[in-house]
Amino acid sequence: MSQKPLSPKTVAVHAGSRLVGSTSQPLAPAIHMSTVGWFDSSDELDGALDGKDYVYSRISAQNTSLLEESVAALEGAEACASYASGMAALRAVFEAQNLQAMDRVVMPADGYGVTRVLFKTLSARARVELHPLILSDPEAPERILELEPKLVVAESITNPLLSVPDLRALAQACKKVGAVLAVDATFPSPYGQRALALGADYAIQSATKWINGHSDALAGTVSGSRERLAPLRSLRLMGGDVLGPFEAWLTQRGLRTLHVRMKAHFENAAHVARRLAESPLLERVYYPGLNSHPNHTVAREVLENGFGPMVAFEIKGAGRPEGFRFLEALKVARPGPSLGDVCTLVMHAASASARRMTPEERAAAGIRENLIRVSVGLEDPEDIVEDLLAAVAHGVKR
Ligand code: PLP
Repeated sequence: MSQKPLSPKTVAVHAGSRLVGSTSQPLAPAIHMSTVGWFDSSDELDGALDGKDYVYSRISAQNTSLLEESVAALEGAEACASYASGMAALRAVFEAQNLQAMDRVVMPADGYGVTRVLFKTLSARARVELHPLILSDPEAPERILELEPKLVVAESITNPLLSVPDLRALAQACKKVGAVLAVDATFPSPYGQRALALGADYAIQSATKWINGHSDALAGTVSGSRERLAPLRSLRLMGGDVLGPFEAWLTQRGLRTLHVRMKAHFENAAHVARRLAESPLLERVYYPGLNSHPNHTVAREVLENGFGPMVAFEIKGAGRPEGFRFLEALKVARPGPSLGDVCTLVMHAASASARRMTPEERAAAGIRENLIRVSVGLEDPEDIVEDLLAAVAHGVKR
C-alpha cells in the first residue's frame, strides 16, 4: 500500500477517531453520539446488523441500553425499551398489541388527559372499542370480566386525583379473560411501586418525571418480560421513536439518586398533606396516605415505602380565576404543568393535565375547577405548606 501522506481534507475526516493505548473505563458513562458504528471485520458488521452489537442507533444504542438495564433492574423486569417520551411509550404499548376492529380496551376514566385523547384517537383509527372506567372502583375487576378486553391500561396513582387501584385484583381479572395489563407507574416511580410484581405485564414510566428528577430530558420506558418486549422493540426499530443518547445519559444520571430523592419527596408529601388537611380554606385534600382517602387500605398494600410524592386539594369556594390567582401568588413553589422535579411544582388540573378532556369527561372523572395538584419538592416542607396556604388565602380573597 502507498505510504503517500493523506490529504489534509482526508485527515480532517479520520484523525482522532480512536483513543490509542487507553484501557481506562470512564466512571460516568461516555455519551455515544455516533449514530453508526463501523467494524474492521465484515462478519462482525453482519452480526451487528442481527442485533449482536451497536451498528445503527435506531436499532440499538449504547446509552439507551445502559438506561434500559438500569430501569429493568429497578422494575424487577427481564427487559426494558426506552422511548423519546412517556407518551411514545404508552403509544408503543397500545400499538404492539395488534388490536383488531371490535376488540376492547379499558383505560382509566380519571387518568392523565393526554393519555385519554391519545387512546381515543388510536382506538377510533383501529375501530377498537374504548372503555374508560374508574379502576379504583372495587367493582372494576368485575367490569373487566364482563367486558373481556384485550388490553387494560391502569395508572398506579391516577393523575390528578391520586386514586389507587388494586392492581392485584385487576391483574387477576385480566388473567382470567386473557387481557394484557399495562400500568403507567409514573407517579410512584419504581421506588413506590413495582407493578410487575403485582401482576402487570408492562410497567410504563414517563421517565421525564421522577426517574430523571431534574426536568432536563423527556423520556419514556416500558418494562416487562423479553417476550412482551419483543414486538415493541421491532416496532421501535421501524417506527424510529427512540430516545437520544444525551437524553438517555441525563435520565440515567437522575436515576442514580432516585431512592434518596424519593424517600425525601415521599416524606415531604406526607407532611404537606397532613398540614393541608387541617386548613379551613380547603374543601378536600387528596393523598393516599390520609385515613380519609377512599383507597387508603389498598394503597397500604400496593404501594411501597409510603404513599407517593403527590398531593392534590380543592380550594373552598374557588373556580378557575381563583385557581389562577393562587398560582400567581406562589413564592416558593413553581406553577408548572409537570411533576418530578426537585422543586415543588403546582398545577391547576382542569386547565393543564386534564385540559384536553371534554368538560363532560372531566365531570365524570371528578376533576373540578378548584382542583390543584402538587408535585412535592425537596424544600423544607413547612416552607411549602406556608407558601401554599398563603397563596390559597390570596387566591380566594375578595
Ligand atoms: N403518564 C403520566 C401519568 C403523566 O403524568 C405524563 C405527563 O405528565 C405522561 C404519562 C406523559 O409523559 P411525557 O410527558 O414524558 O410524554
